[in-house]
Amino acid sequence: MATSKEEFEARLQEFVGLEIGAPEVGADLVNEPMIRHWCEVMEDRNPVYTDPAAAKDSVHGGIVAPPTMLQTWILDGFDMATPEKQPMNKQRELHAVFNEQGYTGVVATNCDQSYDRYLTPGEQVSGTTVIETISEEKATAIGIGYFIETRTTFRNQDGEQVGWMVFRVLKFKPSAQPAAAPAGDDGAPAAPVRLRAPRTHDNGWWWNKIDEGELHIQKCGECGVLRHPPRPMCGECRSIEWTSIISTGKGVINSYVIMHHPPIPGYGFPIACALIDLEEGTRIISNVVGCDLDEVHIGMKVSLSIENVDDEMKLPLFKPAQ
Ligand SMILES: [Zn+2]
Repeated sequence: MATSKEEFEARLQEFVGLEIGAPEVGADLVNEPMIRHWCEVMEDRNPVYTDPAAAKDSVHGGIVAPPTMLQTWILDGFDMATPEKQPMNKQRELHAVFNEQGYTGVVATNCDQSYDRYLTPGEQVSGTTVIETISEEKATAIGIGYFIETRTTFRNQDGEQVGWMVFRVLKFKPSAQPAAAPAGDDGAPAAPVRLRAPRTHDNGWWWNKIDEGELHIQKCGECGVLRHPPRPMCGECRSIEWTSIISTGKGVINSYVIMHHPPIPGYGFPIACALIDLEEGTRIISNVVGCDLDEVHIGMKVSLSIENVDDEMKLPLFKPAQ
């Protein structure tokens, strides 16, 4: 499309300051069952969220919702998985303008939230979202693009502001090929490869062990608690002394998703991504391979298989346990 960069950017700026559409009104009032489910998943055991007696004796005088649930009160349910069925709004229009120019990728980069007060059961939350800023064109590791910042103001049924959220995404042109993919001998572009994990001072050792065919789990040098992924300090005792143990590679699928979309170059789709409870007690996220995807299930016993996923990279994958 023969749109100059200036015309394109001027078109983008027309969206700045616009409300994306009518306020999004929560499908359910703030309610105790959803609060309880959230607390279970987050392992938040603060009794003011779930124990009526304890909550009554607290400064709140009754059950309140965890502030971090703010956005959940206005989220659509499963409809969110089918954006093409959603009504058009200014945010989707803006993304369509980007898509037309080849900026088809989108990745969330930041989210800031602020809470004015605790919400209580029976309140109805709505959110009004404004496209607040669109950056200049930026070059990033995943491609060139623009940062879009939206601000959502949350109110209750009386119009009282209860919090806000600033959400930032990068809308980008996916690179034609990852930087790590060398050209083939015939000069043709090489097939895209999987993203490379950054190897830093804190996690490089772990990847080196994978290259050697061992899955290690970091172990605190003071209190002995295991931790994964690798990081510099123990979350239990704050010691920076550590060693590691070699995992048996035996585990059980705690949760999983079969990913179909969006296709990322270098990966075969659909692909099974699983959260695996290792028998040592730590968890790892990996792909399940070596079986039909519809065999993958929660509770499935799996075992480690460190495999080359391309010429250069080994990954700790998991197969059904024998
Ligand atoms: Zn420790």
